[in-house]
Amino acid sequence: MTRLDAPVTESNCHRVDQDGPATRLLEAREVPLGGIRGILVHRSLPQRELPMVGAWCFLDRFDDERSHMRVLPHPHTGLQTVTWPIEGSIRHRDSVGSDVAVQPGELNIMTSGYGISHSEFSIGDVDSPLRGLQFWVALPQETAAVDPFFERYTELPVYETDGLAATVLVGKLGDVESEATIFTPLMGADAVIDAGAQVPLPLDPAFEYAVMVVSGSLDVAGHHLTSGPLLYLGIGRETLDVASTEGARFILLGGAPFGEELIMWWNFVGRSHDEIVAARDDWERGSDRFGHVDGHGGERIPAPPLPTVRLTPRRRRP
Ligand code: MN
Repeated sequence: MTRLDAPVTESNCHRVDQDGPATRLLEAREVPLGGIRGILVHRSLPQRELPMVGAWCFLDRFDDERSHMRVLPHPHTGLQTVTWPIEGSIRHRDSVGSDVAVQPGELNIMTSGYGISHSEFSIGDVDSPLRGLQFWVALPQETAAVDPFFERYTELPVYETDGLAATVLVGKLGDVESEATIFTPLMGADAVIDAGAQVPLPLDPAFEYAVMVVSGSLDVAGHHLTSGPLLYLGIGRETLDVASTEGARFILLGGAPFGEELIMWWNFVGRSHDEIVAARDDWERGSDRFGHVDGHGGERIPAPPLPTVRLTPRRRRP
């Protein structure tokens, strides 16, 4: 995925100390991706009030009746992309030689480190739906510039309890742990709760968490949550009671509050204005840093113009 919406002065990703459980409902905003014939994505992070949840710094949900995703090669630095299709398949090609079709139930996780480029195209009949999630995870300073690599998991562990089954994408839920590589204390799971079920989910009190419903409706932390918004839950919870009368599919995300100030601009995560400028320049001049994605001729997504002001981290609003 690529950010085509990058507002010229936007930069973000800063945390303030979290002092306990909270509930804050944050509406997603609709962002066109890939031009006028492209798809609409629902973006839940970053938000003005909440740049990150743990190291999760970017949450997109794509939900389209037509499979016409066509995202040409574009670069990333300082982050991991986590791609999780729900319906329809996506062909992922990247500059470390990957060329895979990612299907529902399979996880793609791409660690950009110092620099990678990739493309994402929907596969198959254009009139079939394409739904799924793409999230970004910020890398901490000490591993922000690792060599890029790509992982694909066709089988993932499932946390099961009476009335609920949760596929663990990254990190762990209870004692069920994903093998996907992560660089900070983090978790993400895709859960299905049965109609009429009420389940306590085990949380890590050192993590902050958020929940997003994919389908159905979920009663959680005093909210009746349906598809759309992100419910931020704060930190310090040992368990989270979830219940549903009609059944629901939902995403639970959590992580240790990310203690570094970050700047996010376009598809780059960095720590200084100059670092972002250097990454942009390297992409624009076709530097080896971002390699080459086979199969697109010379087609690629150019970087948007830099803002005229220096990029600075955005502070989380109390
Ligand atoms: Mn991307």
